[in-house]
Amino acid sequence: MFVKDTLQQSPLEILKKYYGYDHFRKNQEEIISSLLNNQDTLCIMPTGGGKSVCYQIPAILFQGITIVISPLISLMKDQVDTLTSNGIPAVFINSTLSQIEQDDIMNDLKQGVYKLVYISPERLESITFVKFLKQLPITFIAVDEAHCVSQWGHDFRPSYGKIGNLINQLSPRPVLAAFTATATKEVAEDIKLGLKLHEPQLYISGYERENLAFSVVKTGNKRNYLLDFIQRYKGESGIVYATTRKDVEELQLFLQKNGVQAVTYHGGMSETLRNKNQEKFIYDDEKIIIATNAFGMGIDKSNVRYVLHYQVPKSMEGYYQEAGRAGRDGENSECILLFTSKDVQTQKYLIEQSASVEERKVQEYQKLQSMVDYCHTTKCLQSYIVNYFGGKVNADCGKCSNCKSELEEIDVTVEAQKIFSCVVRMKERFGVTLIAQVLKGSQNKRIKDMRLNELTTYGIMKSKTEKEISELIQLFIAEGYLELTAGQFPTVKITEKAVSVLKNGLKVLQKVKPSKQEVPIQSELFEKLRQLRKEIAEKEMLPPYIIFSDSTLKEMCRYN
Ligand code: ADP
Ligand code: MG
Ligand code: ZN
Repeated sequence: MFVKDTLQQSPLEILKKYYGYDHFRKNQEEIISSLLNNQDTLCIMPTGGGKSVCYQIPAILFQGITIVISPLISLMKDQVDTLTSNGIPAVFINSTLSQIEQDDIMNDLKQGVYKLVYISPERLESITFVKFLKQLPITFIAVDEAHCVSQWGHDFRPSYGKIGNLINQLSPRPVLAAFTATATKEVAEDIKLGLKLHEPQLYISGYERENLAFSVVKTGNKRNYLLDFIQRYKGESGIVYATTRKDVEELQLFLQKNGVQAVTYHGGMSETLRNKNQEKFIYDDEKIIIATNAFGMGIDKSNVRYVLHYQVPKSMEGYYQEAGRAGRDGENSECILLFTSKDVQTQKYLIEQSASVEERKVQEYQKLQSMVDYCHTTKCLQSYIVNYFGGKVNADCGKCSNCKSELEEIDVTVEAQKIFSCVVRMKERFGVTLIAQVLKGSQNKRIKDMRLNELTTYGIMKSKTEKEISELIQLFIAEGYLELTAGQFPTVKITEKAVSVLKNGLKVLQKVKPSKQEVPIQSELFEKLRQLRKEIAEKEMLPPYIIFSDSTLKEMCRYN
């Protein structure tokens, strides 16, 4: 019988026997033994890190039954199918089953037929169901995707709040474990409180995913970029995320017109169709899925070679979870984000339109800003992510678009001072665009109406384009010299860091794109020099290697 011969085995033996893996990955063994020692445990591990075995192996080894709380029906089915095919008795109870089927399973559970039962948190809202659970010998409760308990997480599910109550009703109290991929400090605190964890052991695996290469791409032609990119990965699996249902549909049509087949997934489709498309993608019948963020939670597809975000997502938490679906098999994979500032406006609009309370909106704006900062930073993108989640990095990743770019670090202290003092003169009451216009010396009517053209900083960055100035401002925001207020029309404020630049002459070094605008050449002088060069050459006055090329002459003739 299953129970008798397994209970004596070690976790590693179980891993080999039922999963066919030879070694534990980072933290898996520690988490398993923490649970086997009856300690509540909070486990934060990146997507694809291998959280499932961390609760499945203890579930196998514990006497009694384990309840797994799982947010998605499709996810339950996948997990139960895998467990069953590995010879582990597991089952799920959810709305896809008829009442008779559910009753049968409930009877079997009482008979001790199953080791694991997967349920959705919403089940716990039924008093009858909780009453039934109370009759079972439940030794362990595993909460998957535990960030759903947090209001400030990105997938809030009110029913997750019922889990704590359930535990209080069970005696003896079962061991409780919470699993999530993304938890900032606040979310981790919310999980501890919301699930009523008892002095939990905390396990945080590094947030780095070494096999992922992150890129932020700023292109004027996103569609062509997408098409080229996908064609480069012909025959490989990839996910394209878009913000709205409409975007998803349009992109599919566009790709189809260009001979690329893809399936779609979004909340506006029937559940049957959604599941069908998801299965086609998971079983490699379709290579590309275009989806809103409704797609992907808990999905275990190992060979996704790229995740491309067609628009900027609303938070780093969401982004990293979605992007993290690439390369679960450990092979090199790419995470691309196509950035335009217009898409940021769309996200702001969505926040404005949402039913969230004011306090929550402020949080959402802040989360969005961290996402935008990611797109503007010139530092290592992987490091930015790890830092965002409160982890530490030893070195830059060497493979993200910033690590690989050929930008040079230059001293931009003077530009920084000009921008910061302009912000101060404008009394921190205006947004990026208007500040850039003032610095540029724009003739914009609004500027005249508000008499901003009378400021001493008006026009002091004339030689740059308005776009270049805006980009610099965004960069200083991303690097923490400036900050934006939360809201639909954020204004730019000075931070301590900028004050040090203005008052104490702190140097500002930045990797920036060299200005594309060329300083014009003095054409008369250029022609004269060319004439001179011709004479010199004809008369062989100088050895040929000293004769300057056209481009050198041009450099000599630039204004300034
Ligand atoms: P998560 O829930 O953390 O996103 P999963 O539990 O779905 O990740 O695991 C991701 C993949 O890693 C699965 O295919 C799983 O079988 C595999 N995996 C888990 N543990 C190990 C291990 N110790 N060795 C090799 N592969 C593993
Ligand atoms: Mg998982
Ligand atoms: Zn990097």
